[in-house]
Amino acid sequence: MNENISIRFLGGAGTVTGSKYLLRASEKYILIDCGLFQGLKKLRLTNWKPFPVDPKSIDLVLLTHGHLDHVGYLPRLAKEGFGGEIWATAPTLEIAKVILEDSAKIQEEESEHANTFGYSKHKKALPLYDLNDVKKTTPLFTSQPPNQWLTISDSIRVRFRYNGHIIGATFIEMNLGDKTIVFSGDIGRTIDPLLYPPELPEEADVMIMESTYGNRIHPSDSEEQLIRTINESSGTILIPSFAVERTQSLMFLLWKLRKRKAIQDIPVYMDSPMGRNVLEIFHHHPSWLKLSRNECSEMCNDIIRVKTMDETLKLATDKNPKIIIAGSGMATGGRILTYFERYLGDKMCTILLVGYQAEGTRGRQLLDGVEEIKLHGKRFTIKATIKNISGLSAHADQTELLHWLSKLKTAPQHIFITHGELEAAKSLRDKIKQDKGWNCHIPNLFEEVVIEGIPAGLTLKN
Ligand SMILES: [Zn+2]
Repeated sequence: MNENISIRFLGGAGTVTGSKYLLRASEKYILIDCGLFQGLKKLRLTNWKPFPVDPKSIDLVLLTHGHLDHVGYLPRLAKEGFGGEIWATAPTLEIAKVILEDSAKIQEEESEHANTFGYSKHKKALPLYDLNDVKKTTPLFTSQPPNQWLTISDSIRVRFRYNGHIIGATFIEMNLGDKTIVFSGDIGRTIDPLLYPPELPEEADVMIMESTYGNRIHPSDSEEQLIRTINESSGTILIPSFAVERTQSLMFLLWKLRKRKAIQDIPVYMDSPMGRNVLEIFHHHPSWLKLSRNECSEMCNDIIRVKTMDETLKLATDKNPKIIIAGSGMATGGRILTYFERYLGDKMCTILLVGYQAEGTRGRQLLDGVEEIKLHGKRFTIKATIKNISGLSAHADQTELLHWLSKLKTAPQHIFITHGELEAAKSLRDKIKQDKGWNCHIPNLFEEVVIEGIPAGLTLKN
C-alpha cells in the first residue's frame, strides 16, 4: 500500500501574498514558507484566523527566501505554539530577522495609532504579533547550506538551490521516497544587476510554481525608461521600493547612471532603515552577489543614506529636485508615506513604481490611476505624475518562467500554479499547456491535494 502525500495551500493560492504550503508525508508535517497576507482587507483578516492545524504539530518549516509574504507569519506561528526548527540559507535567515522585526514594529505602531485615533472597529486594536514573538521565533532559525541534500527523515530529504530573486533566495527540492517535489519559491530574472541567473530544476514529479508575472513580458528597455523618467522630471522623484534587493538594485543602477552622466545631476537619497540593514547583509555574503565589495562601497558613498526620522521630515519639506528611494515597496507602510503626505498633491512630483503592486495596496491604487488615497485615516488628492517600470521587477516574466522549466527531463505528473492573481495564474497555465502540452492546476486558497505517494517501506533513492 502506498502512503499518500498531501499538500494544503494555506496561502499564495489565488493571490500573490501569504505563501504557505503544508506538506504531510511519512507522519511529518512540513510547512514550506510562512508568509503574511497583505493587500486586500479580506486577505489581511485571514492572518487573524486560527491556523488550520495545531502549530505545535508542525515538525519543520522550510523557507525559500526572506520576503514578508514568505516569512511574515512566523512570529504568529511561534506565538501559537510552534517550536520546531526553521530551515533556510544563511542570508535568508538574516533577511527574515530584519523583516520580522520591522513587521512587528509596524504592527505595534498601527495598533497604537488605531487605539489613539479610534479608527479601529475592534474595541482595542491588538498587533498580530510583537517584538517578543519575534524573539521567540529567531532562536528556531537553523541555517543550511545551498546545493546539499539534507536529511529530514529516512524517507525525506531536501535541497536549497539558487533562485536569483533576492540574496539567499532558493527554490526547494524535496525527495520523498521515489518522488521529487519542487517548490519554486519566487523565481528571479535571467538578467539582474546584482544577482546571478536562477538555477533550473532537472527533475520534478510534482511542481509548485509561482506565477506573479505569469501574464506579463517585461520590456527590455527598462533602463532607458528610467533615464527618460528622471530626465523629463523637473521636481522630486519618489520611488517606493522593497527594502530587500530592489532598493539596492536601484541604488546600483542610479549610481551607474550618475557615473556615466546619463541622468540629470540631482541628489539620490535612500531612506529605508531596513534597506541599510540589508546592505550589511550584502557585506556578509558576497558570494551570493555579482557586486564586488569595492563597487558596494563606492555606490554607498554616492547615494545619501537618510538615517533618522528628523532627517526624513526635513527632506520631505526640502523644495529642491531629488530622487528618494524609500520603503515600503507597495506603499503599505514605512517612510514613503511621510513623503506621500508632502508630495502626492505636488504636480511637479513623479512617483515611480518599480515593483509588484498587490491588489488592495496603495501602490496598486496609484497604478490604477485613482484620484485620491487614504493615509492614516486622511484623504489625499493625487496631483503627482504616476509612472511604472515593470522591467525593474525582481520577478521572472512569462518567458523567464517558461525558461525555468526548460531543463526538466520529463513532464511533472502534477503542476500547481500558485503565487499569482488569478489572471496571471491562468495565463501561465494556458502558456504551459500550449508550449509543453502539460496540464496545470490552479489550487484555491485552503485546497488540499492528495498525491499518490511513497510505497510503504521505501526509503530514499540514491
Ligand atoms: Zn519574494
